[in-house]
Amino acid sequence: PPDVVTFGETMAALRAQGALRLGGSLGLSVAGAESNVAIGLARLGHRVRWAGRVGADELGALVLRTLRAEGIDTGHAVTDDTGRPTGLLLTEPRLGTLTRVSYYRAGSAGSAVSPADVLPALASGPRVLHLTGITPALGPSAAEAVLAAAAAAHDSGSTVCLDVNHRSRLWSADRARAALRPILPHVDLLIASEDELPLVLERPHAPESEAVRELSAAGVSEVVVKRGARGATSFTADGATDCPARQVDAIDLVGAGDAFVAGYLSGLLDGADVPARLHRAVTTAAFAVATRGDWEGLPTRDELGLFDQPDGTTIR
Ligand code: ATP
Repeated sequence: PPDVVTFGETMAALRAQGALRLGGSLGLSVAGAESNVAIGLARLGHRVRWAGRVGADELGALVLRTLRAEGIDTGHAVTDDTGRPTGLLLTEPRLGTLTRVSYYRAGSAGSAVSPADVLPALASGPRVLHLTGITPALGPSAAEAVLAAAAAAHDSGSTVCLDVNHRSRLWSADRARAALRPILPHVDLLIASEDELPLVLERPHAPESEAVRELSAAGVSEVVVKRGARGATSFTADGATDCPARQVDAIDLVGAGDAFVAGYLSGLLDGADVPARLHRAVTTAAFAVATRGDWEGLPTRDELGLFDQPDGTTIR
């Protein structure tokens, strides 16, 4: 049985070399916040299951084949038989690490994921269920799937992790708050970037320390705040622990947050303490930042130590 179960929408990703409107060649890959986390965890040696819905099309086959190639269990993934296509996104580098992403996901198979699609994937009682705030933004059945899965996993003793992951193109802050707050009673570990934390609070303008108190009163035992190049802070009943980011030349920031989550959950699964979880999280995030692609550059367990090697080292 898997250590971790996650689900959400994974799309085909077309990556341009320059401005999209100029045409030219595109590279084809896959992208999805939850599957990025799944790949990060699988590369670190954890048993991971990804559930979700793909279209009965070649891009859906690409999504499933890619995840299987990374050692992820896709046995519970559903192929849509009502003609909904696999979603698509296009990325174009614009200025330095500034990237523009265009989505073609409305009406996609992934956005039609339902409770019946995902609940069977949880029956084996995983140690961790990982969810993101993207899925409930995709549609009513996807929102129901997140709430039902969180409740079922929490009741059976799994650690439920929610990464807020706000997508302002999918919904407003108010709609996100209305959908995410009912999930909180089932969440053990909440992960958010600094600007996303207000989205899950009753009083959005509360300072961080009060925010954490409010969340722990709601039953969230651990809150992790991501601060980009400044690192991250973890808040537990024992207090706050800060961790600086690792110094790297940033090449592609997309996927840093997901890589961070994979590292943090990996530490948690290994029984590591909070400083060691954060250390692994900023390390896996640094791999994502220093390499191109959302997940392609994520480290295997053997590679975690590479950041401690002197610059210019050749591995023979
Ligand atoms: P995403 O754009 O993937 O949604 P996010 O907003 O969820 O990212 P960030 O706080 O931007 O998350 O980044 C997550 C982690 O990635 C940070 O906590 C940090 O460890 C690492 N990170 C981000 N930017 C840099 C950087 N320039 N250099 C080194 N590490 C970085």
